[in-house]
Amino acid sequence: MSVGIKIDWTSDFPKARKAVLVTDSNVDRLYGDAIVRQIEDTGLQVERIVFSAGEKSKTLETYAELVRGFAALELTRTDFAIALGGGVVGDLTGFAAATYMRGIGFVQIPTTLLAMVDSSIGGKTGVDIPEGKNLVGSFHLPKRIIRDVKFLETLPEKELKNGLAEMIKTAVLFDAEMFAALRELAAKGAQGGRKEELKKWVERCATWKQKIVDEDFKEGGKRKLLNLGHTFGHAIEKESDFAIPHGEAVAIGMRIVGKDVPEIGKILDAYGFSRVEYGPRSLFLTSGKDSASPLEMDREKILEAIRGDKKRSGDTITLVVPRKVGECELVETPMNDLGGWLA
Ligand code: ADP
Ligand code: ZN
Repeated sequence: MSVGIKIDWTSDFPKARKAVLVTDSNVDRLYGDAIVRQIEDTGLQVERIVFSAGEKSKTLETYAELVRGFAALELTRTDFAIALGGGVVGDLTGFAAATYMRGIGFVQIPTTLLAMVDSSIGGKTGVDIPEGKNLVGSFHLPKRIIRDVKFLETLPEKELKNGLAEMIKTAVLFDAEMFAALRELAAKGAQGGRKEELKKWVERCATWKQKIVDEDFKEGGKRKLLNLGHTFGHAIEKESDFAIPHGEAVAIGMRIVGKDVPEIGKILDAYGFSRVEYGPRSLFLTSGKDSASPLEMDREKILEAIRGDKKRSGDTITLVVPRKVGECELVETPMNDLGGWLA
């Protein structure tokens, strides 16, 4: 299959002699050679750094390998890095580019749905440390984002779902028309050409995120809306020890804050995201696959995890609460009131 990244690099990086392509082992196997060839065809020298696929690679150690790799390749300030992959590759490469020689340029070529509609946009870069996810990082905007939905053809359904949750989130926030389209698509099922149709909405979704981050780069106001489903979602992800994937956790988070908007629950049902039931002391999460044995999650532990949220400010946290599809509100919520949402 041909993915097209035929780009004239000289407009973005007029003095570059070299580019370093950073990718993970899966993406390298699928696309590494083809992409390297396409870059070389433009007359640029390109070197490749590959690390093993998975969130477990998003560490200071891999970051160190990258910046030391850049140094070993004698990359200069006018050269640049290319992140080819999902969010993990993008975050790591972006952070390495942000800090190597106090900052060199980089380009994102997102290959997962999540990265296309979400993580490649807005310049957040960083790594996880044992104390928490994304605790070390910086804002560093890519010079260019090259989105080619053809990459999605090889993306496993489970990974697609992570991106779908963010697409539904974007629709709930801003776009009732996209919401209706996504709702209809769900009925087609995973095998019924859903992926093909989804591709059409990728660009629209990415444009929404781009617009918000352009208006509010450092997350002083509007960008906070993008956190819909993420306050409870992150806490649940963490409490599950990251056994629950990001998209699934965000979907659960959207169910919790979206209780008053029944369409939200319905679209998440239609895509088979976990359901939530509220017990006196626990939440019960039922995944579509295994409805017989729900996962029990302690309410206090979820609240405890939110107390450690980066986005908490003092005794309050800003929740994004849907009023109707296409319209959500930022609600400053005292930490002591959060428990009310979990009942
Ligand atoms: P995310 O974008 O969700 O943050 P990752 O960067 O961890 O996720 O990518 C998720 C997984 O999908 C990784 O194992 C990665 O190697 C793999 N992957 C990324 N892009 C593709 C693709 N286009 N086809 C198949 N697998 C891919
Ligand atoms: Zn997210």
